[in-house]
Amino acid sequence: MFSKEKKYGIIGLARSGIAAAYKIKSLGGQAYLSDIKSEKEIPESEQLKADFPCEFSGHTDKLLNCDEWIVSPGIPLTAPIIIKGREHNIKMISELEFGFQIKNPHSKLIAVTGSNGKSTTASLIAHIIEQCGHICVLAGNIGDAFCGFPIEKEEIEFIVLEVSSFQLELIDTFRPDLALLLNITPDHLNRYDTFSDYAKAKFNIFRNQTSSDFAILNLDDPLIREQSEFIRANKRFFTLKPYSYTEIIPSAWLKDDCLYSVLTDTEYPLREMQLRGPHNWANAMASILACETIGISNSIVKSGLESFTPLKHRLQFVRTINGISFYNDSKATNTDSVKYALLSFEQPIRIIMGGSEKGEDFEVLTDLLAQHAKKAYLTGATAQKMASVWSGKIPLEIIDDFEECIRKAFSEATAGDKIVLSPACASYDKFRNFEQRGDTFIDIVNKMAKEYEKA
Ligand code: ADP
Repeated sequence: MFSKEKKYGIIGLARSGIAAAYKIKSLGGQAYLSDIKSEKEIPESEQLKADFPCEFSGHTDKLLNCDEWIVSPGIPLTAPIIIKGREHNIKMISELEFGFQIKNPHSKLIAVTGSNGKSTTASLIAHIIEQCGHICVLAGNIGDAFCGFPIEKEEIEFIVLEVSSFQLELIDTFRPDLALLLNITPDHLNRYDTFSDYAKAKFNIFRNQTSSDFAILNLDDPLIREQSEFIRANKRFFTLKPYSYTEIIPSAWLKDDCLYSVLTDTEYPLREMQLRGPHNWANAMASILACETIGISNSIVKSGLESFTPLKHRLQFVRTINGISFYNDSKATNTDSVKYALLSFEQPIRIIMGGSEKGEDFEVLTDLLAQHAKKAYLTGATAQKMASVWSGKIPLEIIDDFEECIRKAFSEATAGDKIVLSPACASYDKFRNFEQRGDTFIDIVNKMAKEYEKA
């Protein structure tokens, strides 16, 4: 637990580490900051040096004088510094765990994890809670870090957290009142030895829950269904299938063209939501169950579902040029999110794919691409690997330059076509992050629109 007497080592000076350091300082504690990056590579280094004792360009033995380390989610547990810390029996936690230890015990904590849909679901839940006038913080992977908010204060009624598997690796007492697990599909296999290690980290979200807490679970995910028997919290399942009597009874399901919740006996019509595609219906059902579980009325849930606008970079409609529509799905950094992009359009699409390697098997998309893509335009570091998997099975072309790739898709499209950037890969080969990749896509499309109007 937090103590002013403890000396905290902050390993990794990115968003969450910096937020934890300032939180410790504001609570009267001591922090020692350390990163393998040089001062130049850390934009905040000048300010950090003024505010804390720090070391850059490597971790020294000074860290061993700390009582506890808060480790950045970017550092794998196999990193030499972690191994050294373990050898010296230093307690290591994530910023998520630290935030939990200092948060006001009265604010209700809703934590959302899964391979895909976390940001959308966490934002939707926070949006619905805010409709009731409650003071709610939306934190974690989305927006600011957990510790970046005044979470120790009593006035915060709800905290909705988007939680990654990396943050869950180093928890100790972290125990959300409501934990949502949306899905588990292969992702981050460049960091985990096996899929099962990755799944284990996700299930940590339930580890400290008791029968007074709630777990919201996807019944359609075989791994979640199978492992759910080990969860002690009250379980509420959602399914994209119509109701059928099985061993596990769902609390929400797809009923004709509505999402139905048995908790309040309410039908939420799909046509009244701006979120599109079956993956988003699943996210909406998880959000409905979460909000109804904390006592929000069905009429507020309904109006929140209607007024929620989909997030940028997630199947975001950009514009139409000459009858050809462009969609930015830059956040689709794994094959499962691309699967849902392909399933979200009625007609086959022209899809722009490729980026930096995450260790995924692209074969899983072959059949879907054959059915739902007119052509794949491959760009970036994984283009060759993707081509070697799909060559001869689907129409494809490799165009390394990102802008040329988009222009090629446009030049081959006819009115009514849809061009979708849905990469199935991370963006680090050519961009700072997925946001910069998506913004670049939007800029290029807007530039092409101007050229087209002039012509
Ligand atoms: P996350 O925060 O988990 O990355 P996002 O809501 O940001 O999730 O969505 C990331 C990508 O995954 C987008 O391409 C989006 O269209 C897709 N997606 C969203 N929800 C789901 C889901 N439940 N299942 C599969 N893909 C999803």
